[in-house]
Amino acid sequence: MRVLLVEDDPVLGPDLRTELMRGGYAVDLADNGVDGEAMGYEDIYDLVVLDLGLPQRPGLEVLRNWRKRKNNVPVLVLTARSAWNERVDGFEAGADDYLGKPFHSEELLARMTALLRRANQQLASALEADGLTLDEKTQSVLTDEGDVSLTGTEYRLLRYFMHNPGRVLSKLQLVEHLYDDGAENDSNVIEAYIKMLRKKIGKERIETKRGQGYVFVAQR
Ligand code: CA
Repeated sequence: MRVLLVEDDPVLGPDLRTELMRGGYAVDLADNGVDGEAMGYEDIYDLVVLDLGLPQRPGLEVLRNWRKRKNNVPVLVLTARSAWNERVDGFEAGADDYLGKPFHSEELLARMTALLRRANQQLASALEADGLTLDEKTQSVLTDEGDVSLTGTEYRLLRYFMHNPGRVLSKLQLVEHLYDDGAENDSNVIEAYIKMLRKKIGKERIETKRGQGYVFVAQR
């Protein structure tokens, strides 16, 4: 899952980015409203975390512009804790959730997980497919054979697959949703990760569509 973080605070921004990466997200950071808005139009983000008090263009205006142009990416806004009117304005502008500052990064991560689940219309509390349960806390997967640990990239790959069951995902798409701008993103590497993931969760789980990409099989 790739996240756009729009936060101008020179300490909070980079700190949050680190926390979110630790939570298994690829993260691009924008520190002003103009860059943030432009980046948000790229069809590569699964979620946006948007501060409202931003230089150059306020967060609310950024959000309104996205929604006006039918950009429906899930957006979690960060507001000052006491500013109830900011929250109301945020929801009216098209926010999906909010979090008041200051907050614990654990709460932000939990809200992001819930928001992604809602966006993908998953009602279960865990990310599940027939015979597979992804534990987002320990970043491991429970299979018929037991608990299997995953590397960071395997976890990100499997989570993205499980959020998009039955969909053909191209290598480029996978790269875009797994890595941030600063990372080496060679789509050939994906093949190697798919191979390792198949060893852990079963070959039949990830089908190859020649020339198109891969499909995660939720129902065996
Ligand atoms: Ca700010």
